[in-house]
Amino acid sequence: MHVKAVVAREPAAGPNWAFEDVTIGPPADDEVLVKITATGICHTDILLSSIPSGGPFGMGYPKVLGHEGAGIVQETGKNVTKVVVGDKVLLSYYSCSNCARCRSSRPMYCTQFNLENYAGRKGPVVCKDSNEEIWTRFFGQSSFAEYSIVAEASVVKVTGLLQSDEELNLFAPLGCGFQTGMGAVLNVADPGPEDVVMVMGMGAVGMAALMTAKIRNCRTIVAVDRFDNRLELAKSLGATHTINTMVPDFGFQDAVREISPTGVSAVIDTTGAGKLIEEAVESLAPLGKMVHIASPPPGYKLSLDITQLFANGKTITGCIEGNCLPSESIPQMVQWYREGRFPIDKLVTYYPAVDFAKALAHMHDGSTLKPVLTWA
Ligand SMILES: [Zn+2]
Ligand SMILES: [Zn+2]
Repeated sequence: MHVKAVVAREPAAGPNWAFEDVTIGPPADDEVLVKITATGICHTDILLSSIPSGGPFGMGYPKVLGHEGAGIVQETGKNVTKVVVGDKVLLSYYSCSNCARCRSSRPMYCTQFNLENYAGRKGPVVCKDSNEEIWTRFFGQSSFAEYSIVAEASVVKVTGLLQSDEELNLFAPLGCGFQTGMGAVLNVADPGPEDVVMVMGMGAVGMAALMTAKIRNCRTIVAVDRFDNRLELAKSLGATHTINTMVPDFGFQDAVREISPTGVSAVIDTTGAGKLIEEAVESLAPLGKMVHIASPPPGYKLSLDITQLFANGKTITGCIEGNCLPSESIPQMVQWYREGRFPIDKLVTYYPAVDFAKALAHMHDGSTLKPVLTWA
C-alpha cells in the first residue's frame, strides 16, 4: 500500500521534513492499521528530529514522526483485543505492558519507553521510490501519514465519546501535549484552592496546565510568556495574573512578589529555559513544588542552593506525559471539554498535511499554539 507521509531526514540546521510516498505492509499480530484523519504537531517531533543520527535516543533517518494521531481502524492483527475495524481511535505513547512499572500502572516510565517511543523501529515501511527502510513506530504510531501501522498499546478507543467526525480531529492532541500539561497539574503539582500556581510558557501544554489549575479552583494562576497575544489568551482561559518576561528591566522575583508576596505554591515549566527555571525555584514558597515537563538545552545543569530546599521543604520534580494513563485521562479531558472547562477548540489550528511547513512556521513565530495536520 502506497501512502503519503511526512518523512524526516538527517537534520541540517533544524528539522528536515518532506512530503513523500511510502510503502506500508499489513499489521503484525499486535498491531492495527489506522487511517489517520489528523495528527497534532508537538514540540517533541521538532526536538527529536533536530538531533543527528545516533545520539542519546538512538535516532535514525529517514523517519516518520507524529505522535498525536487520530483515525479509524482499518485492519487488526490477530492478537488485538482493544479495538475492531471501524473503531475511532486516538493514539498515545507506547508501553510494553510487561515490565514492573507497566504492571504497577506507571507505563510512562516503562523500561522500553525511550527506545520504543523515541527511536521506534526500522522497517518494514520503506520509501516508495528508493526502497530505503524507514524508522517507524515513533511513539508506537508514526502518525504523520495517511495510513499507519500502530502498536495496540498506543491505541485508545474513543468511538463512544465522539459527537461528530470533526471532534475526532479536534481531540488528536489529547494523546500527548494536552495530557502532559493537564497531568502535570492534576497528578503531580496537585494544587488546591488556596494555592498559587505559575505556568511558564503558554503554548498548548502550558494552556492545558493553566485550564487544569482553574478546574482545581486555584486562587491565583500566573501565566508567564514572552508573547502578549498568548498572555491575553491565557487570561481568557483562567489566568488571574500574567508576567511578560520581555518587558524592559524585567526582574523575575520582583514580578512574582508583586503578585504573591509569599511566593508560589507550584510552578509548571514548559519552557526548558535554564535562567527562568533557576528563578522559578527561588520564587517557590515553603513546601512549593517545581514540575518540569520540557527539555532544557542539551547539557544544561541546574545551579541550585540546596539550603533553600531543606530549609523550605521545596520539591523539584518532573514527569512524562503528566503521569497520565491515556485510557483515563482522555475521557476525563473530553468530559471537561463538554462542560466548557477545557476549551481546546480555542487552541487548535488545522492545516492540510501537505502544508506542514506553514504549520511549523506558525508554531515557531507564536501565531499558532497547536497545529493539527489533517489527512482526509
Ligand atoms: Zn513496560
Ligand atoms: Zn508530545
